Amino acid sequence: MEDSLFTKIRKGDIPGKIVYEDDLCFAIEDINPQAPVHILIIPIKEIEKVSDASEKDINLLGHLLHVSKKIAHDHSLENNYRLIINNGAGAGQSVFHIHVHLLGGRSLDWPPG
Ligand code: 5GP
Repeated sequence: MEDSLFTKIRKGDIPGKIVYEDDLCFAIEDINPQAPVHILIIPIKEIEKVSDASEKDINLLGHLLHVSKKIAHDHSLENNYRLIINNGAGAGQSVFHIHVHLLGGRSLDWPPG
């Protein structure tokens, strides 16, 4: 199976700014940032979307949130940031490899579009 876009960035096959890496996940700056801080936290394991994850992925999914928190802290965003996971094309997902959007650095309205 062909690597996902994000895996290609992780492997250095296409350009991208990697800001975090560990055994389970990595994080990159979004190419089209929607806020001063817009980082994508991505599992190394290629799961297309949250609804495809299984019980054996519970720790991995929790890890993504924990790492999001650490990255938010590193950007001094403790109290004001948003985590988003789009699940499916109808919900705005365009890259089919699970990723958590971390958005911060500006005021964020609710509800989102
Ligand atoms: P989704 O719409 O799937 O929730 O989010 C995909 C995100 O990936 C979008 O915010 C989009 O800007 C970002 N993206 C798409 N292509 C690239 C790329 O080549 N490099 C980086 N760094 N981000 C990308």
